[in-house]
Amino acid sequence: MGLAPLWRLRSRPSAAKLADGDWIALKQAVPACTACGLHKSRTQTVFGVGDEKAQWMLIGEAPGAEEDRLGDPFVGQAGRLLDNMLAAIGLKRGDNVYIANVLKCRPPGNRNPEPDEVAKCTPFLKQQISLIGPKLIIAMGRFAAQTLLATDASISSMRGRVYQYEGVPLIVTYHPAYLLRNLPDKAKSWADLVFAKRTMAAL
Ligand code: URA
Repeated sequence: MGLAPLWRLRSRPSAAKLADGDWIALKQAVPACTACGLHKSRTQTVFGVGDEKAQWMLIGEAPGAEEDRLGDPFVGQAGRLLDNMLAAIGLKRGDNVYIANVLKCRPPGNRNPEPDEVAKCTPFLKQQISLIGPKLIIAMGRFAAQTLLATDASISSMRGRVYQYEGVPLIVTYHPAYLLRNLPDKAKSWADLVFAKRTMAAL
């Protein structure tokens, strides 16, 4: 009699389809994403954490095992180092600081992100950046820097300069996980943070 409810499968929101300014849609789209194979092995997506109006935005590569288990970025050993580095320049996660990754899902075994995964996931990060509107972005490690700046240059060649990502000043530094394996480079990363602090003060 035409009275039965009409069930329609709602299409999953993809990052590319989201309207600007829509945190709620973005927070629904990320956990629902099946755009690349990583959704099959993830425990959960890792959206990002912190002050949604932060002036500082730090961007890493992808969740590791601890992040996949707990759902927040940089909560493992690299995260503890990151927190210490932030404290050294008077910053604290969540307090005028937002932390996110290029990939929202953990690559199995912590392998490097594949180009296809980066391409599928980057629109989510772009949305986060545009919603937060940070004054300064710090790209930590090769994947974040190369993705945001569309380059294949090395971190060492990109350090010490202010780049622009869609009008937002961006500074490049080493990834905390790299620093854990290369302790002498901690001094360079300290110099990068001091440079970032000076850059922010002048913005
Ligand atoms: N490494 C990253 O790049 N991001 C995390 O969240 C954890 C480790």
